[in-house]
Amino acid sequence: MKLAIYSNNGAQSKAVVALFKEKLAARNTDKIVFDDEHPDVVISVGGDGTLLGAFHHYADQLAFVRFIGVHTGHLGFYADWQHFEIDELIDSLVNDEDARTVKYPLLEAHVRYTDGREERVLALNEAAIKRPLGTLVADVYIQGELFERFRGDGLTASTPTGSTAYNKAIGGAVMHPSLDAIQLAEIASINSRVFRTLGSPLIIGNHEVIRVQLENDGAAVTLSFDHLSKIASNIDWIEFRVSKTKIQFAEYRHMHFWHRVQSSFIGTEVK
Ligand code: NAP
Repeated sequence: MKLAIYSNNGAQSKAVVALFKEKLAARNTDKIVFDDEHPDVVISVGGDGTLLGAFHHYADQLAFVRFIGVHTGHLGFYADWQHFEIDELIDSLVNDEDARTVKYPLLEAHVRYTDGREERVLALNEAAIKRPLGTLVADVYIQGELFERFRGDGLTASTPTGSTAYNKAIGGAVMHPSLDAIQLAEIASINSRVFRTLGSPLIIGNHEVIRVQLENDGAAVTLSFDHLSKIASNIDWIEFRVSKTKIQFAEYRHMHFWHRVQSSFIGTEVK
């Protein structure tokens, strides 16, 4: 197995990486070699945010790479191993004969600029389009048909695994990662007798496309894919769909998704 470690710069993450390497060396095994360029498995050490960084770093190798997230703080959603479980993790890597894998959906965003340029980006959590100064005005099409004219701060399109991140903070539903779907959620839409949007999140299946056609008054919008943001004033439209590509995680043990949701947001003590 070719292994890469992608860590954040925190002191605890660095200590965990050093401990992992020391413990692996002590096994004296030739089953695992380090290869940052073309790894089979990438271990992200930090938090869920670090795993987003690892995903974008290896985004052109998703067909070949499996990810593992080690959290150096609390339990994360992607980073579901904790720093005190290193021995168990090394056991799993060394005995990984059948390469057990779990796959999760990704969001594909297709951006068309007013000068005709196009780009396609994959996101693990979400894409967010916002107008920092003033109201974002955009027509939302589903399967080529006008659905609504949106006015407000912005819109996000989130994956199931991203549904517990920004999407949840703006009132989106938490989605089980086994669903091959994406969720569109509104950020502070204007709703009155004059302006109307659905006013609730909506979820589309893997055969559908949402197009957000921006009203083109040249105003700057921020466009984010996970933790990566840019400002642009020349976006014509953006389409969102479920990608045919999936992210793969090494599945060494089963983590119950709803337990993770409960422990992150509610706490184990139900009152
Ligand atoms: P950040 O602003 O430093 O941290 C965002 C927080 O979101 C961190 O606590 C991170 O967990 C957590 N997180 C990331 N992915 C998650 C997921 N799938 N489910 C639950 N929590 C998750 O930014 P960052 O670490 O670079 O992460 C970028 C993400 O921040 C974006 O993709 C977006 O989803 C999220 N975000 C959230 C808000 C909001 O909640 N109001 C606003 C903007 C962006 P760790 O501590 O484990 O890294």
